[in-house]
Amino acid sequence: MSKQPFYAGGLRFSCIRCSACCRYESGYVFLSEKDIALLAAEQKMDRDSFLQTYCRWIAFGGGVEYLSLKEKTGYDCIFWQDGCGVYAGRPLQCRTYPFWDSIMVSAEAWERAKSECPGMGKGELQSMARIEAALEARLAEPVITRNKLGV
Ligand code: SF4
Repeated sequence: MSKQPFYAGGLRFSCIRCSACCRYESGYVFLSEKDIALLAAEQKMDRDSFLQTYCRWIAFGGGVEYLSLKEKTGYDCIFWQDGCGVYAGRPLQCRTYPFWDSIMVSAEAWERAKSECPGMGKGELQSMARIEAALEARLAEPVITRNKLGV
């Protein structure tokens, strides 16, 4: 018999749009090809212009770089303007928060993450199916990477 995940009974989460996850501190919004297509269309730009204007490459070592949105001075997300400026078409990483594999790995990780987000542990009960759909969506839409030589 397989063990049920800690979130089998669902978890409470409702975003209160406080912007704590998209302002004030440096962070990364990694992007899939679908994210780029949606955001570039919304900005009425082609892919290359969008990458040049709104994106940066982040290296964590190991020879691989990850494509992320840029930040403004002061660490606000490049699209933050009195709230999320692209909310309807925001990247999958934003849409699936806080149901990320790094957080859903354990009840302890979920409890730790609560200190970063006042919407976690309160509000709407999100079912296990919904949580797993978020995890699966991230797996189905991998973020864009390149090796350090850019080839
Ligand atoms: S920190 Fe949580 S509640 Fe605040 S905007 Fe981000 S997801 Fe929403």
